[in-house]
Amino acid sequence: MRILVVEDEKRLAAGLRNGLEADGFAVDVALDGTDGLWMAREHAYDAIVLDIMLPGLNGFRVCATLREEGVWSPILMLTAKDGEWDEVEALDTGADDYLTKPFSHAVLVARLRALLRRGAEKRPAILEAGDLRVDPASRRAWRGEVEVELTTRELALLEFLVRRRGDVVSKREILDHVWDYDFEGDDNIVEVYVRHLRDKLDRPFGREAIETVRGAGYRLAAGGG
Ligand code: CA
Repeated sequence: MRILVVEDEKRLAAGLRNGLEADGFAVDVALDGTDGLWMAREHAYDAIVLDIMLPGLNGFRVCATLREEGVWSPILMLTAKDGEWDEVEALDTGADDYLTKPFSHAVLVARLRALLRRGAEKRPAILEAGDLRVDPASRRAWRGEVEVELTTRELALLEFLVRRRGDVVSKREILDHVWDYDFEGDDNIVEVYVRHLRDKLDRPFGREAIETVRGAGYRLAAGGG
């Protein structure tokens, strides 16, 4: 099993290499994002350990670029405990798991083995319901080939509906996932934003993707309407 470690802290990188080699892995190390990206493209690694804060190209960009290019090696992202980056963002860019520094070697190896068991599956970063597509990482949305401009909140609502496509979701669930948990306002705000989405993604295209389910909530057609 060949692992690529992308980590710019030289001592940590050397420690990871020694530790993983002692566990029987073959290990290559890249000390910045640009080299890491290049190496990950050139060799089919069984897994990649990817730091986020890197010179050249940060870990999010490396991860998102690999996924865009169809490289599906499992990626374990390393995040800093008090970092400005959050873990959700790591997963949004197509990483499979994350580990917060500092971590124990045993935990790292256990997580890596779990990823290796799963292998490289296609996990597109872009969510789809028919010809409706959302890329949460780059915050873009399309109806067919047409890119549609959405506000941050509209995009978050669309992402939630696409993730739950085919299911009825209540206004309360939408508020909990798309607005803050402590949102105290009127849940009619959901109706307002659903209308925005219909005006941008359905009406101009002669579609009706977002169905109102009376007394229950909304359902995005699994096929995109
Ligand atoms: Ca770093």
